[in-house]
Amino acid sequence: MSNPEMLTVAEALAIVLDTVMVVEPERVPLLDCLGRVLAESVVARDSLPPFANSSMDGYAVRAADVAEAGPGEPAILRVVADIAAGRPSDVILTSGAAARIMTGAPLPAGADAVVPVEDTDEPWRDAARPLPERIAIRRAVAAGDYVRYPGEDIRAGETVLEAGHILRPQEIGVLASLGMADVSVVRRPRVGILATGDELVDVTVPLTPGKIRNSNGYAQAAQVRALGGEAIPLGVARDTEADVRAHLDAAVAAGVDLLVSSAGVSVGAYDVVKAVLDAAGSVAFWRVRMRPGKPLAFGRYQGIPYLGLPGNPVSAMVSFERFARPAILRMGGHRDLERPTVPATLLEAMRSDGRESYVRAVVTRRGDGEYVAITTGSQGSHIMTSLVKANALLIVPEGVVEVPAGTPLTALMIDWPTGVF
Ligand code: AMP
Ligand code: MG
Repeated sequence: MSNPEMLTVAEALAIVLDTVMVVEPERVPLLDCLGRVLAESVVARDSLPPFANSSMDGYAVRAADVAEAGPGEPAILRVVADIAAGRPSDVILTSGAAARIMTGAPLPAGADAVVPVEDTDEPWRDAARPLPERIAIRRAVAAGDYVRYPGEDIRAGETVLEAGHILRPQEIGVLASLGMADVSVVRRPRVGILATGDELVDVTVPLTPGKIRNSNGYAQAAQVRALGGEAIPLGVARDTEADVRAHLDAAVAAGVDLLVSSAGVSVGAYDVVKAVLDAAGSVAFWRVRMRPGKPLAFGRYQGIPYLGLPGNPVSAMVSFERFARPAILRMGGHRDLERPTVPATLLEAMRSDGRESYVRAVVTRRGDGEYVAITTGSQGSHIMTSLVKANALLIVPEGVVEVPAGTPLTALMIDWPTGVF
């Protein structure tokens, strides 16, 4: 059964990943960086916090002045200033003095701690109330209490984020706090998506006898977008070498980093993709020991990496998932190229054909913590709804033909969040 001429999935994937390269960086406005990959490490220009400030509404004090204070024996201090957030005071706190201070306001010189307002006799809830002349402090604080010192979070000069980091909302917040209005991120890989086949019409066109709609063009473009790539739709090429070439040449002229086509790669009379690659590029492989998706061409067209997916919609999506996905992630600067996996126990008996198989399945976590899997029904490579129902692809390893109920398998979780937007 196993054909040494035909590559395993792992061998084929290694060739694909060796061929593609990370694309160049671009500067992008901060908010548009969500989900993007940092191209350069970020070194902090400022410390965070930038200055010592209060973490509470209360009174800035010298801790030594209130060291003996307690509920029964309050320390009485003179109130010499009122410091609001954003309005630094040039007061210098001397012994016996306090300054009313708001959360985030700069700690005045001479102060080394803050007493929360709840621990004083002046819980000012009324903005109109004048600043008290004196304040009774009902608890002791130690130097540093309720003070946030400069650099506690980030020190100026420190590397805060390494190149390759994926920017989530929390990273956007950190970059904003460091004053970065735009950020150097890896450009979105541009992926040309071509459908081939004389039977294909676009989504807007009424069906006529023998025609079907080009679903792959849309599904693969969506797969590219889901990975943070830029999908360049190349339309439909007829089943002739000349028309496939014409569509590919237009894409090359427009500038793409990767070409992905569907159909025309098997051994039918009109399967022209391999011939086109042979003539104007190179073919690294054109079959893989995988199910679904044995016909799968990979090579270069005019120097550009080219992945020729099979035509059947499920085969196209699963092959994309297995090969184009890690390739596009790598081009986009990602380091984590694989979906999360869980060990899952198959609850039904199944047969495979000895190729490494990707079975559409629903994986759930039982009360006892074990993951269990059932298939989504017919595994025909034209049954698109089998993917719609699935949240996982169960991997049946190469060489396995009988898969009894209770078999432990690895499940690729295709809809778990992975940090890719
Ligand atoms: P092929 O690889 O050209 O033999 O195509 C295999 C099957 O996939 C055929 O049934 C095609 O009609 C179908 N197919 C090919 N391309 C598409 C497409 N873009 N959208 C939907 N089905 C397709
Ligand atoms: Mg065809």
